[in-house]
Amino acid sequence: MGESDSSSAHSPRYHRVILKLSGESLVHAGERGISMDEVTAIARQIKSAHELKCQIAVVVGGGNILRGAQFKGSSGEMIQEATAHYMGMLATVINALALQDAFESIGISTRVMSAIKMDGVAEPFIRRRAIRHLEKGRIVILAAGTGAPFVTTDTCAANRGLELDADIVLKATRVDGVYSEDPEKNPHAILYRELDYDTVIEKNLKVMDSTAIAQCRTHKLPILIFNFKKEGNIVKAVSGQKVGTRISPRINPGERILINAT
Ligand code: UDP
Repeated sequence: MGESDSSSAHSPRYHRVILKLSGESLVHAGERGISMDEVTAIARQIKSAHELKCQIAVVVGGGNILRGAQFKGSSGEMIQEATAHYMGMLATVINALALQDAFESIGISTRVMSAIKMDGVAEPFIRRRAIRHLEKGRIVILAAGTGAPFVTTDTCAANRGLELDADIVLKATRVDGVYSEDPEKNPHAILYRELDYDTVIEKNLKVMDSTAIAQCRTHKLPILIFNFKKEGNIVKAVSGQKVGTRISPRINPGERILINAT
């Protein structure tokens, strides 16, 4: 869609974004399941960003309920890994429905679109229809990931970002951005303000899954990793204000973007 130059509070820098919410953002830290307090809190933050006239498609994860990889290689398990990935995708639908009701309770028109056909629960994901909903000012919640097993909703966020012609993928996390090391293990870990995709891949930085990074890199779709727990950060993210770590293409071949936060 193209980024606008303005980053004033009334004019979002990004006109259309994919917001990736992990399932863990719908629950208190360290817990499982769904906390409607947390769901409503994040819905309110998204509402403020939406009021800036930014079109928002939310890709929701399912890790608060189940991740397919939990069942990887466990030969004694009754549940095969592929089956578990489908269960993980269904978990994202549960989260999407909770999020939808939270949005609607605060007056935001919302559509849940599922990559797995689920008549009576959600609309099927149809690219052109999703764009139409966004243009009409509805928040679109993308459920069931890509509909295919063995990937995560990070890959879904990258794919849908491309399909829906989003300006950026915003990945909401519980940390301030991308660090040189795990900040919980090393308090001296460096927080980066800007990075390029190649540096993320070379340094094996934990940003999104590798398929998602590769997709964004190939198609030059920027990513912003930021802390959604800090009130107002979603608004800052869509307004293009300084927050989190932005990952984008190298401007010149051979040049490395690796800027530390000050
Ligand atoms: N999943 C999948 N295909 C997809 C998206 C998700 O198989 O396109 C499964 C996968 O097992 C994943 C789970 O659904 O672990 C839940 O999604 P994710 O791990 O991305 O949730 P998050 O960590 O963001 O809460």
